[in-house]
Amino acid sequence: MSSHVSRRGFLKAGLAAAAGVGLSASQAVLPQALHAGGGQELCTVFDLSQCIGCEACVDACREQWQGSVPDPAHPIPQPFPARVPIEDWSDKKDVRDRLTPYNFLYVEHLDLERGGKSAELHIPRRCMHCVNPPCTNLCPFGAGRVEDNGVVHIDPDICLGGAKCAQVCPWKIPQRQSGVGIYLDILPEYAGNGVMFKCHRCLPLLKEGKTPRCIEVCPNQVQTIGPRGEQVAKATALAQKMAQANGAPERWRDHLYGLTENGGTNTIYVSPVPFPEVNAALLKLHLEQAASETPTKPGQGRGQAAKGGQGRGRMLAHAGRPHMGPTANSMASAENLTLALAIAPVAGLAAGLGRLFSGVKKLKKLGRSPEAAGQSESKGGQS
Ligand code: SF4
Ligand code: SF4
Ligand code: SF4
Repeated sequence: MSSHVSRRGFLKAGLAAAAGVGLSASQAVLPQALHAGGGQELCTVFDLSQCIGCEACVDACREQWQGSVPDPAHPIPQPFPARVPIEDWSDKKDVRDRLTPYNFLYVEHLDLERGGKSAELHIPRRCMHCVNPPCTNLCPFGAGRVEDNGVVHIDPDICLGGAKCAQVCPWKIPQRQSGVGIYLDILPEYAGNGVMFKCHRCLPLLKEGKTPRCIEVCPNQVQTIGPRGEQVAKATALAQKMAQANGAPERWRDHLYGLTENGGTNTIYVSPVPFPEVNAALLKLHLEQAASETPTKPGQGRGQAAKGGQGRGRMLAHAGRPHMGPTANSMASAENLTLALAIAPVAGLAAGLGRLFSGVKKLKKLGRSPEAAGQSESKGGQS
């Protein structure tokens, strides 16, 4: 283990300079047609055979976005009903080995035994940016968004932290920070519990035609981004090559993850190790990690629950550390379809109200009344 860590530390230190070079060259702007998806959704492909586990991508994401997640109000109001947990990661911002509201990306480091030989595999993990995302379709407040370029994100000005998105996400990606967001200005004891956060694929940078930070700094070009059709073709060809090299060309589909999972995502992983093996190793690792982590409250230890490897234990083990197992299209289920249809109008109304409320709040902070703002906007926005 120590040699593993020191090797990674060495890689990290040694590659920082290389990543820095990538950075300045970077401002390698995405061609306009590409950043807009060229009429198609943008899709990222991870070639895991190239990932050395240096975590430069994690550093870059944290540097760029951690400051955009606010610190909570103290004391954090107890949500209603009282059994609803307060989730506060603000004093654990240094946690980087799982997803948290302050950490949108982390890297799994797997040691595998294959054909009597040991092998390492490093897997960066973040939101998959599903093509038909249940997190967005089923948000009762309309806080989820899907951009034309395929980016799935959560509007922090509207989200009330109810965590429906995390419940319905097959990988439980969105992470809640309690004590932040619009609910504090409404009735915090009766509604809301913070804001859900996750990777937004550097949307503000994409809108400026720039490359997402984790792609930009990678010293090995592990991740590429481009129109979905091209990226799917590239990932498929690579998977076929890997299956061939593994001596089982007919099993090429096992080397791809994200292409059809949850009905298709815009994040496709290609691995030299077939994903059924990867997922089994991940589950084992996550159960060990969960068992060794300190319970947050006496009697509520996720480690204890995880030991048995039962359904709930698996769920707890994967909290903040997503699996890579088979994943059906959740929006194809009759239950979710019906729910999405039922909440769509309500969610639209809630989102409209949320935007209005948040706009008024921002104006109040600026010391301007909504009426005055309306007048100045009608005069060409001059104040
Ligand atoms: S991975 Fe989860 S959070 Fe990300 S888009 Fe899909 S359903 Fe939403
Ligand atoms: S795309 Fe941007 S927000 Fe998402 S993990 Fe990469 S750096 Fe972080
Ligand atoms: S994706 Fe690139 S930057 Fe991230 S750990 Fe792998 S090699 Fe390092």
